[in-house]
Amino acid sequence: MSRFWSAVTHQLTPYVPGEQPQHQRLIKLNTNESPFDPAPGVMQAIAETPAELLRRYPDPESVVLRSAIAERMGLAVDQVFVGNGSDEVLGHIFQGLLNHSLPLLLPEISYSFYPVWASLYGIDIEPLALAEDFSINVEDYARPNGGIILPNPNAPTGILLPLADIRRLLDMNPDSVVVIDEAYIDFGGQSAAALVPEYDNLLVVHTLSKSRSLAGLRVGYALGQAPLIDGLNRVKNSFNSYPLDVLAQRGALASIEDEAWFQQCCEQVIANREMLRGQLQERGFEVLPSSANFLFVRHPERSALTIFNGLREQGVIVRHFNTPPIDQFLRISIGSHEDCLALLEALDSL
Ligand code: PMP
Repeated sequence: MSRFWSAVTHQLTPYVPGEQPQHQRLIKLNTNESPFDPAPGVMQAIAETPAELLRRYPDPESVVLRSAIAERMGLAVDQVFVGNGSDEVLGHIFQGLLNHSLPLLLPEISYSFYPVWASLYGIDIEPLALAEDFSINVEDYARPNGGIILPNPNAPTGILLPLADIRRLLDMNPDSVVVIDEAYIDFGGQSAAALVPEYDNLLVVHTLSKSRSLAGLRVGYALGQAPLIDGLNRVKNSFNSYPLDVLAQRGALASIEDEAWFQQCCEQVIANREMLRGQLQERGFEVLPSSANFLFVRHPERSALTIFNGLREQGVIVRHFNTPPIDQFLRISIGSHEDCLALLEALDSL
């Protein structure tokens, strides 16, 4: 291999996604998808798409969808950017909105895609240790940086950082872009979107993949003041990144319009999570406090990898990360009530 090529491949260290088995019938609790169908209006909007709309290119600005998101979030349409999943939105942020000459601050345990983008775009990262109870201490983030990113609730711990701490983080870093990745905020957290009108350095990123059951449609969005959103549009338009396709725009709009379905699904996930938490604790598991649609658990005496393999043999897949110090943990997505019972039954048979 040439030296050039090995340098390039070193920079391109891909993200290792959770398993997506396509053929087996498994109880899939490994990638935090929703166990519920999307709102009925989503299926209808997609099924009834006029042929003419498919013949034509989609609206590159996704104006109707962005307006609906803006209205729901109490913001203006020029404060909303949409992308093909929040991963694409985050990728744009890494590429164009961070100061690449200073390190990006992020929690040492957080979404494992962040270091991948950082490496791709030549950004140094400075991972900051969590407290012993896995919480984030925002006072650690008062150091020179080219941006700050954290998931809230954190992934894969599920622990929520209170809004007052996010405010503190923003106040301490007025000259940096602070990105709050709220992929899991709808399961019990309070969104930092409420702070957007006050802080011109804040970007809040949401996804329709989790609480709106649309992981397959690929829709995510960023909320921020107009200059930051304009920055994202410039990144997108600089390399002709695709807008959302027609079906994604229509389906996402129908989802945003059905508040009752959304609330009901979130409430059910939270109820299942709390049931599962109690049951796992009864079985001797230590369960971190979660405000997400997953639980991060470990057993004081049993190896996480052995439990993972045992569950897999029974047709239940959860997530195990091979990297210390979290290799003693399992991340379990909250499924339907039946999925949770099947998981417990499989655990009891190990
Ligand atoms: N952020 C976090 C913290 C996540 O866990 C995920 C899902 N893997 C994403 C962003 C990306 O979600 P999507 O691209 O489906 O919107």
